[in-house]
Amino acid sequence: MTDCLFCKIVAGQIPTQMVFTDDQVVVFKDIHPKARVHLLVVPRTHIASLDELQSGHDGLVAHMMRLLPTLAKSQGLQDGFRTIINTGPGGGQEIAHLHIHLVGGGLLPGL
Ligand code: 5GP
Ligand code: ZN
Repeated sequence: MTDCLFCKIVAGQIPTQMVFTDDQVVVFKDIHPKARVHLLVVPRTHIASLDELQSGHDGLVAHMMRLLPTLAKSQGLQDGFRTIINTGPGGGQEIAHLHIHLVGGGLLPGL
């Protein structure tokens, strides 16, 4: 997707504070952090949102989920963390490339 901001970040075309990469995902710091730690876990492949997930993505989804606690601990979040996936305009999704927010550090407000 040539016009997708997160595809450009995946391709290394936009300077980003990268925290972790592997063959399936990139993880970088949110440009407007909502807490001491605010990371975005982004698949390398362009998937617009949860609405677009297919069974062929099951391995990727499991990989992203299992990565979260490891990432949280690597950022010093020993007590826990919050994950958020916004989907579509009704869910407040601004970037149409699937991503998981990993947020923590300090007291988070209740939902
Ligand atoms: P969404 O609302 O789509 O779930 O979240 C998109 C997130 O991407 C927002 O928290 C926003 O701050 C972040 N963001 C938008 N543009 C950039 C950028 O160019 N670089 C980084 N690192 N984060 C961005
Ligand atoms: Zn994309």
